[in-house]
Parts: sequence; C-alpha cells; structure tokens
Amino acid sequence: MSDYSQKVTSSFNERMRLIRLRRKKENLRFWDEFRIIPRWLIVLVILLFLLAQGIALLVNLSAPQRGDQIFPPELKYDPVLASLALAGIVTAVSLVLAAFVFLIAYVNRDAKRRGMHVALWTLLALLLSWPFPFLGVIIYFLLREPLPYPCPQCGNSVGARFNFCPNCKCNLHPSCPQCNREIAETDKFCPYCGNDLKTVASSIEVPAQGSV
Ligand SMILES: [Zn+2]
Ligand SMILES: [Zn+2]
Repeated sequence: MSDYSQKVTSSFNERMRLIRLRRKKENLRFWDEFRIIPRWLIVLVILLFLLAQGIALLVNLSAPQRGDQIFPPELKYDPVLASLALAGIVTAVSLVLAAFVFLIAYVNRDAKRRGMHVALWTLLALLLSWPFPFLGVIIYFLLREPLPYPCPQCGNSVGARFNFCPNCKCNLHPSCPQCNREIAETDKFCPYCGNDLKTVASSIEVPAQGSV
C-alpha cells in the first residue's frame, strides 16, 4: 500500500515539475498582461475615481455651512491645502481598491485563457480576499494552469496537460529511453537516471501508428 502511495506521490511530483517548467517558459510581461483586463472596466474605475474625488471635495468644502469641521481639522483655515490632503487620501484608498478590482478581472480573463474553471476561480479570488486582502489572488497565481503552447511539430495550440497533440499526434511528453520516465524537452540529462539525452535526442521518435 505504501508502495502504491509512493508511486502516486512521485508521479504527482513529476507532473508538477513539468508544469513548473512550462510556466517558467511563459515569460509574461506586465503591460501585455494588463491588456487582458477589459477596457470598459478600466474606464469605469477611472470615472468612479473622479466621482469619488469630486464628492469628497464638495462634501468637505461645504462642511462649515452644515456646522461641521473641514477635514483634516488642523488645516481648517486653509481650504486649498485641506482639499489637497483629502485628495491624497482618496487617491491612496482608490489605488488599493482599483488594484483589487483589476486583479479580480485579471483572474477572470486569465482563467478563461488557461482553460480553468472561470466562475470558480473568480469567486475564490473574491471570497478568500475577505479576511486576508489579496489571498485568493495569490492562491490563484500559485495554482494556475500553464498557458496552452504551440505543438513542437505542427504549431497547433495544445493544452499543457495534453499527452499527444490532437492535430498531429506528436508525443508532447517525451520520456527517457533508459528509465521511461517523463522528461522535459529542455533536459540535457534525465533527472531520474542521469542518462545523457543529447546523444539520444535524435533517436527519440514518435512510434509509427497504424503500421501494425
Ligand atoms: Zn501537433
Ligand atoms: Zn532516465
């Protein structure tokens, strides 16, 4: 039984290693990634920010007419400076809120792109952020699936967990010819048995199907 669980754990670790390798190759750039956030959401956030600034300014400056004090009280005789201080606070709060909204939107779009469960991950990113800000988003970034990548043989887009290309049947998870365990195409030596893979790279071939 322990032998079986050991086998399951080791094959899980092998798979996780390949997924890490695949994700390391993604090489994502911040502004390219930012572009997957819908344009209308960015416009909406900017409009809400301007609205919040306007309301805060009006409410604050009209405070003396309502018998209230201008915020912050230390600057009540200098309305311009008081307004600037308030605008700074509103901006700081808005930046955190905007970052949160954009990250949730990113999780939503990115999960779709990676073939993950969109509603589940968006909800998780939202809900888990309640006790610990951004916790759900952090968990998403740690667990997300690798992006689909082009098949090395035909260029067709294939999922990171596919074993064979659905278009040309290329073997997407080559194995070591000596110990038969999965290797990454970037490995120079088999990470399990140390077999030199460069010399045999040309001899790893896709078994001809239909010839039997
Ligand atoms: Zn292919
Ligand atoms: Zn090996």
